[in-house]
Amino acid sequence: MEFNVSQIMKGNQGTVKTFELSEQLMLPTEQSLRKDPIFDSSFEIYLTGTVTMLRTDAGIWTTAPIDCETSCFCSMCLQPHIRHISFTINEEYYPLSRHLKLTEIDESQFISNENILDLLPPIREHVSLKILINPICSEDCADICVDCGLNLNQGHCASKNKIRRSMYSLTLG
Ligand SMILES: [Zn+2]
Ligand SMILES: [Zn+2]
Repeated sequence: MEFNVSQIMKGNQGTVKTFELSEQLMLPTEQSLRKDPIFDSSFEIYLTGTVTMLRTDAGIWTTAPIDCETSCFCSMCLQPHIRHISFTINEEYYPLSRHLKLTEIDESQFISNENILDLLPPIREHVSLKILINPICSEDCADICVDCGLNLNQGHCASKNKIRRSMYSLTLG
């Protein structure tokens, strides 16, 4: 997700450029970037959106509302399902040469010396955060049976149903 921004950087303050996104890409998870062997994986996402870049006095203000579709595994029934994720990137990016006093700025917010602005780090951050927070296939996921491992979205298990029904009637009094 690299953009060559040399034209915008040469432009005057207020110069605007937009890019339409329609991309399929493999995102490594945060864990796999840290070389964590247990979660070493990547996931494929299909991504659409519009990136608007505005030349500011210091750099480039980037606004990008993005919609993603990705397949991930439900943490309850363990089945793959399609997730829709929407988020907006709203960041100012600065040329590396202005490094001097910008110590509190994240390194991903710099434009490289080759005038490359990379949106992959914020996209990866948003997507993996949202997937990790709530990886369930639906609000009504029925879970798997703790006794036999049956996916209860796909069928009934006698043992589990008995437990569930008795718990349900207890709650209702
Ligand atoms: Zn599920
Ligand atoms: Zn069972």
